[in-house]
Amino acid sequence: MDAKSKALFETAKKYIPGGVNSPVRAFAPVGRTPRFIASAHGDRITDVDGNEMIDYVCSFGPGILGHAHPAVVEKVQEACRHGFTYGAPTENEVILAQLIAEMIPSMEVSRLVSSGTEAVMSAIRTARGYTGRDKIVKFKGCYHGHSDGLLVKAGSAALTAFVPDSAGVPADSVKHTLLAVYNDRASVEELFQKDPDGIAAVIVEPVAANMGVVLPEDGFMEFLRRITRKYGTLLIFDEVITGFRLSCGGAQEYFQVTPDLTTLGKIVGGGMPIGAYGGKREIMEMVSPAGPVYQAGTLSGNPIATTAGIATLKLLKEDKDIYHRLSDKAEKIASSIKEAAGGRVCVNQIGSLLSVFFTSEKVTDDKGALSSDVLRYADYFGYLLDHGIYTAPSQFEAMFVSDAHTQEDIAFTCETIRNYFLKSPSASICYTE
Ligand SMILES: *Cc1c(COP(=O)(O)O)cnc(C)c1O
Repeated sequence: MDAKSKALFETAKKYIPGGVNSPVRAFAPVGRTPRFIASAHGDRITDVDGNEMIDYVCSFGPGILGHAHPAVVEKVQEACRHGFTYGAPTENEVILAQLIAEMIPSMEVSRLVSSGTEAVMSAIRTARGYTGRDKIVKFKGCYHGHSDGLLVKAGSAALTAFVPDSAGVPADSVKHTLLAVYNDRASVEELFQKDPDGIAAVIVEPVAANMGVVLPEDGFMEFLRRITRKYGTLLIFDEVITGFRLSCGGAQEYFQVTPDLTTLGKIVGGGMPIGAYGGKREIMEMVSPAGPVYQAGTLSGNPIATTAGIATLKLLKEDKDIYHRLSDKAEKIASSIKEAAGGRVCVNQIGSLLSVFFTSEKVTDDKGALSSDVLRYADYFGYLLDHGIYTAPSQFEAMFVSDAHTQEDIAFTCETIRNYFLKSPSASICYTE
């Protein structure tokens, strides 16, 4: 059933670290062999052994329209005929920046880069340049890409001892990064009280989706808006996942809280590599060549990638009902899990993002997320995979619903999930391959 994937993985491990180009793809947390993908259309993804699966990974977010949407494919094919990259400005970049500003009005001025990591790294540099301050606050469990300063975890000592979360990151690179707890106002207040004039920016995922899906409690984003204003600190919403996913205007439209800077990735490229960061003109004019904050990119604003991005955003913008359809499908899945599993799991869902945590606790922060039983998650994942449903290969990644998911496939997914939990009525879930 997965002979070709297994063989490819063995070869891959000889030439690529761990056999993959991004760690989560290795399926290590779920103890399976990664499926090597041959193609994907609509809500289906097909591996090299010919297994067709209903895909809820959606490339970890970009695939909001499903795979190979015909209108996007057509535009991209046309664009390819005109050359791949020029190292010179194009009309597409202007169109995409305008479209971003229309859909997310706080992004008056934006700069395109090639990944979410780059967008966040550059937004933070801009915030530091603008405020003349060095420190930043991030939340435990939020992910903002793999730049040095953001790979940080709590040390064993007091609240102030933060250490690198990766080998190869100098302790000095994280000394300006302070950690707070998601949904915990006091943890943020304490950091500001210790250093009222030193914090350039607070960066947050307005819905955390990299520790599984964790929703902000009522008023938490408003609180961050107030406290950052009070201390002259910029508020950065990392909307690499939530941008164009929760609504046309992202989480900031959904919650009606306006940040100073926003970072985008994933959906904004329509499946091609793009990131973007932007905000008020006054702040963004700090960026080179308008201002003194240096940031550049050979492939930034790539014509093929901007074509895919523009086509995708236009479809989202013109379809008034799409966000309603998306959340309706995600709600169906969420309620079928709740019905079948009862209090054995915690299901967090908002819009087309959802997570099932194998814990009886209510998950509101990284500690709650970490209380889940990852072996049970692995078991659940394996059952779904063997029944043709491809979900996140880690407890700490979201399940993504796309507009291409058909009602039949949603119903089949709900049924399969129900069967899984019915098979394991007791606390000990024990599905094995
Ligand atoms: C995926 C992600 C990033 C990093 O984006 P890449 O394109 O993988 O570099 C940053 N922030 C958030 C919230 C993300 O989900």
